[in-house]
Amino acid sequence: MLAGGQSLIPLLKLRFASPELLVDINNIPDLDYVVVDPDGAIRVGALCRHADLERSTLLTATQPTMAAAAPLIADPLVRNRGTLVGSLCHADPQGDWASVVTALGGHVVAQGPEGRRTIPVSEFVTGPFDTALATEEMVVEAVIPAPKGAPAGGYLKLERRVGDFATVGVAVAVEVAATKITRAGIALTGVGGATIEAVDAAQALVGEPLTADRIEHAGELAAQAAQPRTDHRGSAAFKRHIVRTFVVRLLDRVVDSREMAA
Ligand SMILES: Cc1cc2nc3c(=O)[nH]c(=O)nc-3n(C[C@H](O)[C@H](O)[C@H](O)COP(=O)(O)OP(=O)(O)OC[C@H]3O[C@@H](n4cnc5c(N)ncnc54)[C@H](O)[C@@H]3O)c2cc1C
Repeated sequence: MLAGGQSLIPLLKLRFASPELLVDINNIPDLDYVVVDPDGAIRVGALCRHADLERSTLLTATQPTMAAAAPLIADPLVRNRGTLVGSLCHADPQGDWASVVTALGGHVVAQGPEGRRTIPVSEFVTGPFDTALATEEMVVEAVIPAPKGAPAGGYLKLERRVGDFATVGVAVAVEVAATKITRAGIALTGVGGATIEAVDAAQALVGEPLTADRIEHAGELAAQAAQPRTDHRGSAAFKRHIVRTFVVRLLDRVVDSREMAA
């Protein structure tokens, strides 16, 4: 299946994939949307490009983690063609959207001959370049559930140069009511064989005010959840350090923006 082609075409060019048949979905009408439903859920169609999300005032107003990530995907050329849904389907451990959508507790809607089914993104990505999608299914949209509190958070990415894949990426998505965190999601890019959901780190924040101690603790738990390897982008210890630093930085920003520390 060909969406933006920004991952598939390089694979074909390098002869890592040689499909007998390519199904180009670009002429299917009405799949290029990003909308907020009346209940606050965000739906992103299969042909919504990274650039559509980057320019979306709707996201800036409603979803800070997605709004922060959109301009950090690749470079403008890739963002003009590549799609969020294609990125989820490609399941690259260094893909940024999988972490963002995982942190937000999102799901994809897959359509096949048997009809439609919903798959949480945390279960959709099953390993490097592998998903729970059946051969005859396509993903028609990704859905971010309606928040129950005020959404806050962001996405930080360490890259060797602008437009590069992540050495480390961290998505933090929290929902805040009064001074407490009512829901938290933290997910990590590029520090394991697939996107990593830092469940314990997120859980340590829920039901509590964001104190400096809790923020440090969440950073430590996220660093422990990472499974980085030493490579040309940096040592495993360095990457863990960046995970901890990014989690703390993003949560500090939530405190600063909302003045919600206990
Ligand atoms: C130079 C360069 C730099 C990049 N840097 C980054 C980066 O920093 N961060 C990042 O996250 N990504 C990066 N990418 C990848 C980019 O974001 C791609 O756009 C994205 O991974 C795939 O989206 P696509 O729409 O181009 O999918 P395609 O390339 O068309 O497809 C990718 C895979 O997903 C499948 N697929 C696509 N859509 C569907 C669907 N609706 N249903 C079922 N299967 C589908 C295809 O069959 C294929 O297997 C980079 C790419 C390039 C070329």
